[in-house]
Amino acid sequence: MKPSIFDLSHDELKKILTDNKVSGFGATQIFDWLYKKWEFNPENWSNVAKKTREFIQEQYSTELNKIVWNGLSKDGTRKFLVKMYDGQTVEAVAIPARDRLTLCVSSQVGCAVGCTFCHTATQGLKRHLKTGEVVGQYMSVQQWLFDNVGPEEKLTNIVYMGQGEPLHNYENMKRATEIFLHERGLGLGQRRITLSTSGLVPAIEKLALDFPPVNLAISLHSARNDVRTEMMPINKVYDLDRLFAAIKKIPLKAHRRITYEYLLADGVNDTMEDVVALAELLNSKESKINLIPFNEFPGSKYKRPSEQKIMWFLDQMIKRGFTCTIRTTKGSDILAACGQLKSEYDKVNLWNKDEGPVVIPSIANNVVQNQTTR
Ligand code: SAH
Ligand code: SF4
Repeated sequence: MKPSIFDLSHDELKKILTDNKVSGFGATQIFDWLYKKWEFNPENWSNVAKKTREFIQEQYSTELNKIVWNGLSKDGTRKFLVKMYDGQTVEAVAIPARDRLTLCVSSQVGCAVGCTFCHTATQGLKRHLKTGEVVGQYMSVQQWLFDNVGPEEKLTNIVYMGQGEPLHNYENMKRATEIFLHERGLGLGQRRITLSTSGLVPAIEKLALDFPPVNLAISLHSARNDVRTEMMPINKVYDLDRLFAAIKKIPLKAHRRITYEYLLADGVNDTMEDVVALAELLNSKESKINLIPFNEFPGSKYKRPSEQKIMWFLDQMIKRGFTCTIRTTKGSDILAACGQLKSEYDKVNLWNKDEGPVVIPSIANNVVQNQTTR
């Protein structure tokens, strides 16, 4: 199996071409064909030297990952099942909102972190995704949208909030981010990419030093160590003290918008005690809180709080001077919402290849409301 050309950053490709004594100059043109002209057949790369094209064809695969299934939610969210070279699959979700079309990409097949509210966690970790498989989710979905919806259907933003813990797959996510940002690559602006992490402290410390500057979201979910440990076993090792010591080292200018994600689970982390702890832990000037009402999935042990409770929590934070929003639940009728992603659908029999996704009415009707900021 040849490695994928999408695994390579511009500089790496340049170096490989130079080291192999084919023109390093070709890297720029090749990136142009791949990421600007969407031409994946080297034979059509008319301004690239024949020797270079032959080298690429011999050494690398230029094929996109296959989309083996897709589903459209009532709210316009589309979920894609993307197949990798070894048959493993991950999900990518395209979420429309106002003038944006955001792609939620996966970073791993499964996840090792084991949060007790997350569907992906029930899979365990199968493997890290390679750089090209992360970039490939974007390329394959964009190509699918061009082919099936129209040329105006352009992805504008990326969030690393699909399956997996992005900082556990640090090097691949770093290289993929470089390709997303590079002017010769996809040329996305820094503010258009958001990395979400459960709080892998050593990687957060490293991120401050060498990760391209993108928006950062921390999955906090509780400001109380005992509650957070119950929800996220990672908190046993990297508790709130260690987490915040690492966050403080991140230069705020580069990572301007630290968002704290706070999943609201009924009776678990939605009491007055939780409000007070959260307001004490965070600085209202530097932090933005994004409340995520728990999305249920088959077999999940938590419950989503009532809308009244969610609004109460929101009000409490706003009263204390915080910028606080509620994340709209999108795509829950096709299990595409946060925390509902899982690759092995055949096992739980949630969708049928011919008839599409099975709609689960209890969660399909559970859409809270649009993003609310006051
Ligand atoms: N592993 C990373 C990114 C992927 S999860 C992280 O944990 O941050 C993206 C977001 O979805 C996280 O904030 C996660 O806590 C949240 N999430 C997971 N399961 C959920 C569920 N069942 N309902 C709502 N949000 C969930
Ligand atoms: Fe992994 Fe994030 Fe799910 Fe936790 S919430 S198990 S870190 S994907």
